[in-house]
Amino acid sequence: MSERDERREARNNARSDAIDDAHYDAHYDTLIAAARMAREHAHAPYSNFRVGAAVRAKSGRIFTGCNVENATYGLTLCAERVAIFKAISEGERGFDAVAVVADTDALTPPCGSCRQILWEFCGDAEVILANLNGKVERYRMSALLPKPFDQSFL
Ligand SMILES: [Zn+2]
Repeated sequence: MSERDERREARNNARSDAIDDAHYDAHYDTLIAAARMAREHAHAPYSNFRVGAAVRAKSGRIFTGCNVENATYGLTLCAERVAIFKAISEGERGFDAVAVVADTDALTPPCGSCRQILWEFCGDAEVILANLNGKVERYRMSALLPKPFDQSFL
């Protein structure tokens, strides 16, 4: 089995951590729509991989972000962190849901750096992954980032 196939299999096994469709919150559709609109603003001339994200604060406000690439590549910032940092910079604290939208058949999860940042500010929030064709999966942050490092260690 090639390394690529092994990774795909591991990824598919992780799907079992997804939250089932019961208790689907209609507000998730609003969050997905916001992330989808933010994706339109992605600055991704190098990868052409456009991502949108939206975080819902416990106050009810929604903050969005898109990926912002840079010619250095390394300075690129993901949509999730843009959304969270926008919210934090406007004084918001406490979030209960995050949506991530990309144009991929296998839904795009937050990268490792974003998981760490999301845990810092969102704790065990729900993460809703969606594509442009209406496919949706939901996860808890604790499934995406088991045994996280956080302030409880400091
Ligand atoms: Zn990321």
